[in-house]
Amino acid sequence: MYRDDHDGHRERLVRYCNRLLDDGLAIGSAGNISVRAGDEVLISPSGIPYRDMDPGDICVIGMDGTQRGGGGEPSSETPMHLAVYAGTGAGAVVHTHSPEVIALSAVCDELPAIHYAITGLGGPVRVARYTRFGSEDLARAATEALDGRSAAILQNHGAISYGGSLGEAYDRALLLEWLAQVHRLACSRGEPRILTDAELAEVTAEIRRRRYGEARQRADRP
Ligand SMILES: [Zn+2]
Repeated sequence: MYRDDHDGHRERLVRYCNRLLDDGLAIGSAGNISVRAGDEVLISPSGIPYRDMDPGDICVIGMDGTQRGGGGEPSSETPMHLAVYAGTGAGAVVHTHSPEVIALSAVCDELPAIHYAITGLGGPVRVARYTRFGSEDLARAATEALDGRSAAILQNHGAISYGGSLGEAYDRALLLEWLAQVHRLACSRGEPRILTDAELAEVTAEIRRRRYGEARQRADRP
């Protein structure tokens, strides 16, 4: 059994990698997940099927990409994960190969606001132009598409999302896949109505107002 300062992260990463399979967000060993721990990143290894993965297989790398801990070969998408950490305050990054977003990416340049929950991702989700997996170019395209968003779709490839925690990043990956599915269902029935910028701004303001109210209530409690 692997034992180091990152045991908790290692076990949670293995658990969430298996959730990718259970939730239909990837198959086999496709996709990858990472968490940030101080100036290090723990990331799932390349080529090990999630069902066979052990906590000791998780790789520890520095922010410059050098491998610091044991484990297998770091995920081929390590440059993309590191670019997200460098450009945002992300605590975790989830990369999926989920079918609804891949199908959408082959046809559309953007996932429009089909449901107000898309405000949880920062608004309509951009599709980053296609470029080869594992490349620095893909890392650049992904971070550009993430500007002002917590999720992006990668053309003919998959999706990437991030959050303050692993749970938040993962929930955003699920939300994105669900939104893409709803969009497909709407398109199968006709031309969908899309929420306007003003309607999205109203939703964002209301969510902020309710959070502020809850925070005030907590603060006022004796
Ligand atoms: Zn991929």
